[in-house]
Amino acid sequence: MPSSIVQFAVADKLINIGRVNSLWPLTFGIACCAIEMMATGCARFDMSRFGAEVFRPSPRQADLMIVAGTVTKKMMPGIKVLYDQMPEPKWVMALGNCAISGGPFSFEGQYSIVLGADKFLPVDIYIPGCPPRPEALLEGILQLENKISGWNRWKDPEAKA
Ligand code: SF4
Repeated sequence: MPSSIVQFAVADKLINIGRVNSLWPLTFGIACCAIEMMATGCARFDMSRFGAEVFRPSPRQADLMIVAGTVTKKMMPGIKVLYDQMPEPKWVMALGNCAISGGPFSFEGQYSIVLGADKFLPVDIYIPGCPPRPEALLEGILQLENKISGWNRWKDPEAKA
């Protein structure tokens, strides 16, 4: 008797290989950590190795939001709109201490900073540092690939481009 449960394991695996090799980040930076993100996209760090260099100018074409910098309360609604406009599936990285927890702006009496992107977005990967180096962002991308597909790019050959 055929199973009533339909499984798409092979299709899921193929789709996930496509996803991890073609993450499209949103062109979006809000403070100094964005400079590191820009450096990561340059030739020296060669983000293209991982298929993640195609920064998209429209949220409707992006599946990765890298929150790179300090989030102010004034900016927060706009960032949320950008996130909402991204199609599913989509992922979020908090790049740097500001995006993780407010960073150096987290002190008694401050009134304008959101103490972490995870206060209003579902953050998948946290990349600490003030600022984190481009290598740290690359490691974050590899960790996200692992989270999406369950594979390690270096250990599992079938996940390579
Ligand atoms: S974590 Fe440091 S480098 Fe990054 S946005 Fe905040 S103050 Fe700037």
